[in-house]
Amino acid sequence: MTLDDTDLGHLRRCVELAREGLADGDEPFGCVLVDAAGVVRFEDRNRVKDGDETRHPEFEIAKWSASHLTAEERAGATVYTSGEHCPMCAAAHGWMGLGRIVYAVSSAQLGEWLSDWGVPPGPVRALPVNEIAPGVPVDGPAPELADELRALHHELQRDRGRLR
Ligand SMILES: [Zn+2]
Repeated sequence: MTLDDTDLGHLRRCVELAREGLADGDEPFGCVLVDAAGVVRFEDRNRVKDGDETRHPEFEIAKWSASHLTAEERAGATVYTSGEHCPMCAAAHGWMGLGRIVYAVSSAQLGEWLSDWGVPPGPVRALPVNEIAPGVPVDGPAPELADELRALHHELQRDRGRLR
């Protein structure tokens, strides 16, 4: 499925949340859960600055869905994210039986940026969502949003002194 204007609108909100995260000292990742009727039910952004490195918004969404959505609602939901799920979050998404994922930037693209900037790879390998959760429909990227996200990630790495 290609991305339509509705998808892009939700992805733009993810980028806003990513920007909020960066401004607050966290990492620039944002995420929105939309139900089958098109209603935004939950949104969050990265919150790792206090030391819990598992506080990714995609993981929070999977956990939120356990107590707020039925199995049927989860399967019909779409999770939008500024950056493709990491393996931890892809596994949580898969275990909870959530539906479609739409990302603005792929893990591979983010990895290329980091590599171009001389930033060492993180502790967890970046794999496509379908390597972890093969049954999940995945769409992306949204090239319209790439420059904005690239700038946010560049700012993060610059602020942390990781640029070479
Ligand atoms: Zn993650």
